[in-house]
Amino acid sequence: MIKKKVLVTGGAGFLGSHLCEKLLNQGHEVVCMDNYFTGQKQNVVHLLKNPYFELIRHDVTMPFFIEVDEIFNLACPASPVHYQYNPIKTVKTSVMGAINMLGLAKRIRAKVLQASTSEVYGDPEVHPQTESYWGHVNTIGPRSCYDEGKRVAETLFVNYHKQNKVRIKIIRIFNTYGPRMHPADGRVVSNFIVQALKGEDITIYGEGTQTRSFCYVDDLLEGMVRLMNSREDFTGPVNIGNPGEFTMIELAEKVLKLTGSKSKLIHMPLPTDDPLQRKPDITLAKKELGWEPTIPLEEGLKRTIEYFKTIV
Ligand code: NAD
Ligand code: UDP
Repeated sequence: MIKKKVLVTGGAGFLGSHLCEKLLNQGHEVVCMDNYFTGQKQNVVHLLKNPYFELIRHDVTMPFFIEVDEIFNLACPASPVHYQYNPIKTVKTSVMGAINMLGLAKRIRAKVLQASTSEVYGDPEVHPQTESYWGHVNTIGPRSCYDEGKRVAETLFVNYHKQNKVRIKIIRIFNTYGPRMHPADGRVVSNFIVQALKGEDITIYGEGTQTRSFCYVDDLLEGMVRLMNSREDFTGPVNIGNPGEFTMIELAEKVLKLTGSKSKLIHMPLPTDDPLQRKPDITLAKKELGWEPTIPLEEGLKRTIEYFKTIV
């Protein structure tokens, strides 16, 4: 195997920390860059004893100079609570972060992967979502700072590829969960598990009939790494997610069953522009990457609950 030097932006976050670990386990050298907005040193502290791991505090909206073979650009707050906290900064992180990482990739001839999102489909009118669907996004709604930022990032990636021959890969990540999710980031899986473990009410937004498809972190990262290593002329975008589709009520019931919690379900207002349904069509990932998820929701939830038991 050829040892590569890899930069992971947002490497101290939930997905980034698992990615750093996976790449180190594969024998690569990893530079983790993060400004610790939503990520934490705690997520990567166990990697610091590895001499092939480097941790750098830096904001991706500022230029960054380094020599690497590959860049995984994950820096961006991902939960609605966090990306809406400072929406202008969220747009800057996606857009200026993409420009900085693409400029770097161009200069050093690195391959660069963008962590895009199913949110580029907005509140989708096509179900399940295929990569050819252009999406249904409110440009001025509360989610637009994230959705439109990620859409512009895709545009930048495609144009640096066409205009400057930068080697790019775009992954559209669907809701992913697992150990090291931030307990207070407001995402549904972490919220429900923390509430169930503490015996607090489970907060269902709206009727709870809206759907999501949940992918366990290990499956997601396998897809992401396969995409980075895919044939040169395959750029994506490619959906990576678990096509199993569940309502929020179903998710809450599974969490209650697996934790043995007596928490009650309560209803809260549905956030503005909350997508009604979401489910990836993964035909392209199967064909191009030979990838499909292997960990069913109940199994992934069990592992995630075990993690949360150690921190709440
Ligand atoms: P996360 O919030 O745990 O990780 C994001 C990381 O980026 C954090 O460590 C944060 O501190 C860092 N960061 C934020 N702004 C930065 C900046 N300006 N400069 C440097 N670092 C910065 O979220 P995550 O779930 O690990 O998401 C990682 C990536 O995957 C994000 O780009 C997100 O949009 C994308 N994604 C995640 C999901 C999911 O379900 N987890 C779904 C779709 C897309
Ligand atoms: N949700 C919920 N209760 C919570 C947190 C979220 O019912 O405590 C719902 C939310 O309204 C949405 C779904 O769960 O319909 C997924 O929300 P999350 O923030 O995890 O991700 P996203 O909306 O970005 O897919």
